[in-house]
Amino acid sequence: MKIRILRQTEPDGDAYWESFDYDGTREISVAALLDHLNYNDDIINDDGVKTTRIGWDRSCMQGMCGACAMVINEVPSLACDTFLNKLKGNTLTIRPLRKFPVIHDLIVDRSVIQENLKSTDVYIGEYNPKENEDHRHQYEVAKCLKCGLCMEVCPNYRGGESFYGAMFANDCYLVYARNRKKSADMKSTYADHFGRTCSKSLSCMDVCPMNIPMIASMAKLNR
Ligand code: SF4
Repeated sequence: MKIRILRQTEPDGDAYWESFDYDGTREISVAALLDHLNYNDDIINDDGVKTTRIGWDRSCMQGMCGACAMVINEVPSLACDTFLNKLKGNTLTIRPLRKFPVIHDLIVDRSVIQENLKSTDVYIGEYNPKENEDHRHQYEVAKCLKCGLCMEVCPNYRGGESFYGAMFANDCYLVYARNRKKSADMKSTYADHFGRTCSKSLSCMDVCPMNIPMIASMAKLNR
């Protein structure tokens, strides 16, 4: 199997493709494959040239942290949750998320996600739940990893603070369900940063690794 990885050693450096040969089992995840490629002291590309370790983010390796978000065969995915035996073809293409600045190889700077959430103060604060609110949906929404995959495919997110993304609707819904007073104060923030900007392509739902039903958050808030 040929592994093609889009690499970039410095944040301002040029990106370039580097390929590796892999003939091991396909019963492993892309994250395990990256570990495998990085394992030896001497990492050799498919031209037989010694190269540097591939930079990538990881933490839990079980689909619970969102750190290993990247674009795999042109689909934004979690590397730990994407298995080689489920992919078609004999070439695997891996590139960093395109909507976030590259720090090193597959590592990107997603701090804009936290900065946007901080600037809008979308935190629950005083816990004051409405008894009849949809607890099942609160549970689904709270699974968000802040991985950024939904922003990668969102046609309204062009980088930076252009649009706060599907996760913002989810977090606004949690505030609505658990702190009604604060939710009332946030109404115009939600309208400005989500309600009037989202074009409802719902591509976010196609890639969300937690299968969060974003459309239900939007419908509940709009109602
Ligand atoms: S909504 Fe889904 S895709 Fe978006 S950040 Fe949360 S877990 Fe990731």
